[in-house]
This record gives sequence, structure tokens and C-alpha cells, in this order.
Amino acid sequence: MNVTISTIKADVGGIGGHTRPSDGLLDAVRHVVQKSDDLLLDYYIGYCGDDVHIIMSHTHGVDNKKVHTLAWDAFMAGTQVARDEGLYGAGQDLLSDSFSGNVKGMGPGVAEMQFEERPNEAFVVFAADKTEPGAFNYPMYRLFVDSLSNTGLIVNNSLANGVRFRVMDVEKGSIADLELWQDKPTLEAALMYPGRFVIDSVETKDGEPIMAASTDRLHNIAGTYVGKDDPICIVRTQKKFPATEEAGSVFSNPHLVAGNTRGSHNMPLMPVTLNSAATINFCIPIVESAVFSMKMGKFTGPFDGFSTADWDVIRDIAVQRARSIRSQGFIHPATLVPSELEYAEGYRTRMTDLEQKMVPIEDTQNIQRKESYEDPD
Ligand code: 13P
Ligand code: MG
Ligand code: MG
Repeated sequence: MNVTISTIKADVGGIGGHTRPSDGLLDAVRHVVQKSDDLLLDYYIGYCGDDVHIIMSHTHGVDNKKVHTLAWDAFMAGTQVARDEGLYGAGQDLLSDSFSGNVKGMGPGVAEMQFEERPNEAFVVFAADKTEPGAFNYPMYRLFVDSLSNTGLIVNNSLANGVRFRVMDVEKGSIADLELWQDKPTLEAALMYPGRFVIDSVETKDGEPIMAASTDRLHNIAGTYVGKDDPICIVRTQKKFPATEEAGSVFSNPHLVAGNTRGSHNMPLMPVTLNSAATINFCIPIVESAVFSMKMGKFTGPFDGFSTADWDVIRDIAVQRARSIRSQGFIHPATLVPSELEYAEGYRTRMTDLEQKMVPIEDTQNIQRKESYEDPD
């Protein structure tokens, strides 16, 4: 059976700040999706921090107008409740009043893939909050390129053969196919700067989709900061693809990602359980894993991938790293570089003040220095 999985997510409001959606908001989203009759084979609705995700299976292919419209309508309904309840950032990610059938470029994040369902289809949805799409660069590199992280790259013939990465330049809006193993250093050079180059998708060399991620950068679309473009991705697992435990384990070293408070800091990405609120401890970035089986498009699950006891230890490590980088306060690299700072208006005001106080060096100490250092010889 040919199935499409569409994961569409948006932040349309949070309780008392950028924390989590209210139950009323979630009910409104669910109510719209429930009414979709036979458009979908199945769906699951959850949230990661203040971002609501709708995970859908259907037979209509990617970029389908009806599926995107359903998600848009559901988020609009959630926005209405967010407004009624006075939630913070009501409708935050719905950037356009003139929706035309595809949510791409309209604010919500989308990750979709279409494939021939295997007899035991298995996949994981990783949803993150308080970070950006490039947050997946490091774990996906570990999964598909680094055999020290993933022995499957040696012992699984399909993975050992190398995969094709599709990498997006989110500033220029261009995309490149990079194939392992010949393009490895080029891929590494791209993944080095997750704020600019982002993994869009991964497939086998014969074109079978393995991974798809949301790659929009909200602040590029909106022109001004409206929240970080908290990403979501789908990873198919087992058989020719990475084992589910390989896909999960690449999140076991909480690496520093851009985002968190005011979208302006670097902090470690902490794996959390499904439907976790964003922490009000400076918004440590979070990632959830929803593990599914699928048969004829019907979901079983999700199993909560980061719920077992070992992940508590990883969470401890993340909190320790968060405290460590926070201990240097606003000094970069705890904060992002100026071009990546969100809510940059205030920063620009400070810079204007600073500029006005600046005088050319020759007018002050350099001249004095010259005089005082003048060599009589
Ligand atoms: P979100 O991108 O999750 O809405 O968070 C924005 C923010 O500024 C948190 O401090
Ligand atoms: Mg928000
Ligand atoms: Mg968010």
C-alpha cells in the first residue's frame, strides 16, 4: 500500500508564556481533525512544549491541499480558543490570513514522506521545541555517517552503502543532494553551521525515503522574530533503515543548539517524554520521540521513546550542561551571534547607543600613545 505520513506542527498559543498548549486548545485542534471523515487513514495529536503536532497517514501524497487545509483549519480553531482563553502568542505561527492550500511558507512546520508501506512499517517522529531545524544536524549525522555512534553503518548492507542527504541552505532557499560516501567532507562542512544549512531529508541511493524534516525558518518568512521554528522530523526504522534504538540513541549526548529563551541562546537539547511542557528553567531546548508501528496506514502507538529510566540520566546531563553554559550569562557563545539573535530590536538600540559614544581611536589614546612612545632615536 502506498502511504503518506504528514506531520504538520504549529505554535498557536501557550499557557502563561511559551510553555504548553491548553487542554481547550488541544481539544479544538482534535475536534477539527476528527471531523475529516475518510480523508485520513489515521492520526495522532500531541505537543512538544508550546508546539502542537498533527501526525497523519493518508493516501494523497505530499503537499496535498486537503491535508494541509485540514491542519490549517485545526490550528485556526486552536488559535480561536487561545484567543478566548488569553493564551500567550495566540496564533503565533499562522503568519498569513490568506491561506491557499499549502502550509509551507505560512508558518507551520511540515515534514512529509510518501512510500510503499512495508509489512511491519516502523517509524519515529522526533519533535523539538525552543530550537531550530538545524538542531537535527548533529544527531542525524551520528545516525547516518558516524559508525562510532551507529554500528549499523558497518553491519547493515543498506546503510553501509551510504545514503543521500538533501541539505537546504535556509538563507538562500536552495537545496543540494550530497551522497555518501564521496561527499562526506562537503556534507560535514554544511552541517557545521546548523543556522544556515539544514538536513531536509535522507533517502537510500535508490530513492527510498528514510528521513524527512521541517526546514522552514519562521523569522525569514516573517521578516521579524515571531518565535523559533521549532522542528519536527520523521525517521523510518528497522530492516534497511537504522534500528529504532540507533535512531533514539543519537540523542543521548545533549548537544548545544540555538534557541531557548527569547530564541537567542545556545543550550543543550534535552530528550523528554511525550507531551512535555517547555521548562521555565530558561527554556532548555527539548526533543520528544514518538515511536510508531503502522499497518495499512493504521497507527499502533506511539510508544514514548524517551520515557525509560536511562533517559533520566541523559536529562541530568542536559541540565548540568545547561547550568554550565548559563553560568557565563550573556557572553557569547552562551548567546547567539548578532545576526542570529531574535528579539533583536533592543540589541540594535543598545548598539546605536554604543555607536554614538564611539570616537575614532586616533582621536584619543592612539595619539597619546604615539607621543608617549616616541623613540628619541
Ligand atoms: P517558541 O519559539 O517556542 O514560541 O519560544 C519563543 C521564546 O522566545 C521562548 O522564550
Ligand atoms: Mg511560543
Ligand atoms: Mg515552540
